[in-house]
Amino acid sequence: MSLATAPLSIVVVEDEPDIADLLALYFRREQWDVFVARSGEDGLNTIRARQPDFVILDIGLPGKLDGLAVCAELRATSNVPVLFLTAREDEVDRLLGLELGADDYVVKPFSPREIVARVKAILRRGGQLSSDTKSPRTSFDSIVIDSDRKEALVDGQTVPLATQEWSLLEFLVENTGMALSRQQILDGGWGPDWIGDPRTVDVHIRQLRKKLGDDLPLNTVRGVGYRLG
Ligand code: CA
Repeated sequence: MSLATAPLSIVVVEDEPDIADLLALYFRREQWDVFVARSGEDGLNTIRARQPDFVILDIGLPGKLDGLAVCAELRATSNVPVLFLTAREDEVDRLLGLELGADDYVVKPFSPREIVARVKAILRRGGQLSSDTKSPRTSFDSIVIDSDRKEALVDGQTVPLATQEWSLLEFLVENTGMALSRQQILDGGWGPDWIGDPRTVDVHIRQLRKKLGDDLPLNTVRGVGYRLG
């Protein structure tokens, strides 16, 4: 796999030193620039200062801002891909319920190798890799989906989409008119190696509907899943 030519950078926001150090070690081995922050406030400052290509965010953090609050603040101004680390299932429920535009999450304990693979998969899907394939623009009334520029516009205004939301939208556009099951959407939009909760699809579909509005012909197909167009 060939990543973009400039070194990639990552901010790891994690208060447990063992976990932070392990992740830092694995990403430095991959030639990434790694910055570690130990609290939510520190994390937000570091992310703003470094403008990284990726953020790993622990949900349980000391101080006023937990990982969810950090992501909410971040999403006001940034679409940087975020992978959450969670310690507990109830944190997963909160994460999915809040619709923060998280790109993925991993429940502790995890293997650092798995995290590196997930992060790379998200960047691949988000197009931070060179690609020769060019796709045309697709439009639905006020909405234009530009696959070259990886952006969606409503009434000519760019709508900020999280990496995973873009990946989902792109997969739906490629399969316009087809009823797709959640599993097909997971395989196509998240990749066959993605392991996680199928509810993630519903959460991201809701986000797309909310962000792109009524002109997006994204239909629920009872007993199957979803269909664009
Ligand atoms: Ca923690």
